[in-house]
Amino acid sequence: MSRVVILGGGPAGLGAAYWLASRGLAPVVIEQRESVGGNAGSFELAGLRVDYGSHRLHPAADPGVLATLRELLGDDLLERPRHGRIRLLDRWLHFPLRPLDLVRRAPPRFVAGVATDVLRKLVPSSANGPETFASVLERGLGRTICRDFYFPYARKIWGLDPEAISPTQAYKRVSSGTLGKLVRRLLPGGTGPGAGQRRGVFYYPRKGYGQISEALCEAAAERGADIRLGTKVARVGLAEGGARVEVIRGAEDEELVADHVWSTIPMGVLVRLLDPKAPTAVESAARELELRAMLLVYLVLEEDRFSEYDAHYFPGLDIPFTRLSEPKNYAARFEPPGRTVLCAEIPCSSDDPVWLFDEAALGDLVREGLARAGLPVRSRVAEVAVRRLPAAYPIYSHGYEERFERVDAWLGVQPRLLSFGRQGLYAHDNTHHALYMARCAADCLGSGGDFDADRWAGYRREFESHVVED
Ligand SMILES: Cc1cc2nc3c(=O)[nH]c(=O)nc-3n(C[C@H](O)[C@H](O)[C@H](O)COP(=O)(O)OP(=O)(O)OC[C@H]3O[C@@H](n4cnc5c(N)ncnc54)[C@H](O)[C@@H]3O)c2cc1C
Repeated sequence: MSRVVILGGGPAGLGAAYWLASRGLAPVVIEQRESVGGNAGSFELAGLRVDYGSHRLHPAADPGVLATLRELLGDDLLERPRHGRIRLLDRWLHFPLRPLDLVRRAPPRFVAGVATDVLRKLVPSSANGPETFASVLERGLGRTICRDFYFPYARKIWGLDPEAISPTQAYKRVSSGTLGKLVRRLLPGGTGPGAGQRRGVFYYPRKGYGQISEALCEAAAERGADIRLGTKVARVGLAEGGARVEVIRGAEDEELVADHVWSTIPMGVLVRLLDPKAPTAVESAARELELRAMLLVYLVLEEDRFSEYDAHYFPGLDIPFTRLSEPKNYAARFEPPGRTVLCAEIPCSSDDPVWLFDEAALGDLVREGLARAGLPVRSRVAEVAVRRLPAAYPIYSHGYEERFERVDAWLGVQPRLLSFGRQGLYAHDNTHHALYMARCAADCLGSGGDFDADRWAGYRREFESHVVED
């Protein structure tokens, strides 16, 4: 029986453990935190289950993945209508966008700008200079949508000027990258990206998004997987004859022998842990695969509900956070009465001074931002809690492709090693993508213990077409 050691207990690692254990294998999962779910986990705050920022399961999920989650979560997997708002200049629009609402409420300056951009597009223009995130989007969507929405949003999310961001970011992250696609996406029965899917709804587990990972973890353990929490990977020794993974829990360390090591931890971290060491060029490329960090600031308010919306989106640079979610509204919960939680997402670098701000200072920052956006907090703030995600988003700066390919190619030829998941492939992917990767990895492991590298290469090509949903 193949021994598979899986690094990371987020959705990708737990999904792999579940699908392997369902085939009678007994994988070991190594997770550094004391709880499962990674960035897609949940925790309890003031009697409420809250997530690490706004998380929804999108109907675009692979049907096989969705069927497994339905089986594991049963009635706890709720179908919910999306009900968010986006602050465009000084106006609120429903998000996801709705054509009538757009026409009625969009700022007149914005509407006039988009109309001019549409007319401009009738005159073909020639592109000059190298392609960037900015040039691709401006050509596809026109100046107005970029200036008022995508460019400030990009500056906040990735901390870079749009001109310094790779065009790949525009192709991968912006599914409605042209005005035509945007219109087709908005119209009922449209043919744009995501058409045919159930738009305007999402799935959400009754006990918080982390219930997905918790259910996978429980089912994998019942089937024989060994899930080790609070355990860090210290070294991954690779050889043709077998792998050895050194792990540390508290003061104790242990060496696990494995036929296969499946890593879902950040690629750059994995490279540093490998023995034999990677060539210098690979190590330095891995160091430059930067990750954007994120501060999550939770305000516990003494009121039943702050607003009727699940999330508010803030593309503008005048507000320090990109999104504000109210966890109670995701699962339509009414308990506990007299208390609700807001979660503000502040993308940043772990070198920024704000990363070290304390709870009180971050709470003030969020309250001031909300007041500026016309959403003052009127009830008493009973508590401010903060969580810090060091690895929230990959940063696709110009030329990152070469660095990624260098690291990916080197990892790809290491014996007995596979790297996948959002962190393992330096991808922006959603949870359902990470789970699909896990299912594909399990599918490539034959009953004799051989890993089908050709089939995996085919899956890797398919992963390239993943479209990220917001
Ligand atoms: C703010 C935010 C909002 C998001 N919203 C959505 C959404 O609405 N819908 C959606 O589908 N997706 C969303 N995502 C993406 C979603 O969180 C990811 O797709 C998902 O977490 C990817 O799972 P993963 O297992 O690949 O990686 P992760 O969840 O990052 O898991 C990696 C795990 O590896 C562990 N690890 C790292 N280093 C080590 C080490 N040395 N030793 C042991 N363990 C280690 C980490 O602790 C972590 O648990 C969002 C992400 C963010 C940041």
